[in-house]
Amino acid sequence: MKDILARRTGLIDASGIRKVFSLAAKLTDPINFSIGQPDFDVPAEIKAAAIEAIENGHNRYSQTAGDEALLSTIKQKITDRYGWTEPAVLATGGVSGALLLAFLTLLDPGDEVIIPDPYFVIYKHVINMIGGKCVFVDSYPDFKMPTAGIKDAITDRTKLIIVNSPANPTGVVYTEDEVSEVARIARENDILVMSDEIYDEFCYDQRCPSIADYYEKTLLLKGFSKTYAMTGWRMGYAAGPEPVRPVIEQMTKIQQYTFVCAPTPFQHAAIAALDCDMTRYVADYRAKRDMIYDGLKDTFQLVKPGGAFYAFVKAPEWVQSATQFVEKAIANNVLIIPGNVFSERDTHFRISYATTDEKIAEGVEILCRLAQQNT
Ligand code: PMP
Repeated sequence: MKDILARRTGLIDASGIRKVFSLAAKLTDPINFSIGQPDFDVPAEIKAAAIEAIENGHNRYSQTAGDEALLSTIKQKITDRYGWTEPAVLATGGVSGALLLAFLTLLDPGDEVIIPDPYFVIYKHVINMIGGKCVFVDSYPDFKMPTAGIKDAITDRTKLIIVNSPANPTGVVYTEDEVSEVARIARENDILVMSDEIYDEFCYDQRCPSIADYYEKTLLLKGFSKTYAMTGWRMGYAAGPEPVRPVIEQMTKIQQYTFVCAPTPFQHAAIAALDCDMTRYVADYRAKRDMIYDGLKDTFQLVKPGGAFYAFVKAPEWVQSATQFVEKAIANNVLIIPGNVFSERDTHFRISYATTDEKIAEGVEILCRLAQQNT
């Protein structure tokens, strides 16, 4: 069997997550802190728009870049938010789809991508798979933007810097100062920035600062999965101002021969989603963030998350690795993910608090008890 597989399959390592899932499969009704999606369902008006789109025959291919009605709604939203006139926009199969298209568009073998560590797991594996080189810049222990490290990491082969805020897995929201400093470094070296803002609505203490406000060579990636809980509908988009138009055009060309288009009925539903006020849901998640932080902060070392729905928590000093603590937690019915899935280090674990308040309270109690057992 080995010989028929392309070498690139060996460049992807899914063992960390798989281990958690296989341990989890043995549990009944676990406290599931492992899932990267909201626990609420898609709001009724968005579901109605999807059903109506299907019943009204919006079931065929759309234009490669997306349905005109969706694209013009997105363009208007982008112009209102970022001040770009006539932004280039491509509707994609989730932000994951946009990531693959972007990396295929931008990276030749050996090209380097600067990524703050910890990072969203897809970046590493897709970049490796297509022959790019990840250059990780450590941001422990406070997960602030490692601007000095980013500057030092730049070489002649640097093609891209990735900024993900609010961040998966840390929940950190970068400040205006941090993103403007990355913009300055990128401009000085004429490097494209990819800003993955899939969690932008889940920002609890202020509006989420965006590097796109400071730098015109920003490829913006935005999603629907998290904000509207439609992870299974596979909708996202890439956008950019004039200097980034050629990137979006080439991504569109690759979409034509791969995904073809984003799912048409859900493109129609996405128009309704963009009108939907999610403030109430975000307020609920702010309260969950507070529960997690207040519950863990006296027992564990953790940075207060400002956004997304994750906390990245340091495992107790007495364990050999975070993975060891994760195994212990899973044996006690709490599913968490070891930090080495998202990092070159194995010192932390990720909690997703996208679950009920009851489960959060129960899970926090168990994790604190395990940390104090000291064996
Ligand atoms: N970026 C980040 C930072 C994410 O956490 C995720 C989902 N976990 C994605 C992109 C991809 O999301 P989707 O493909 O569902 O839009």
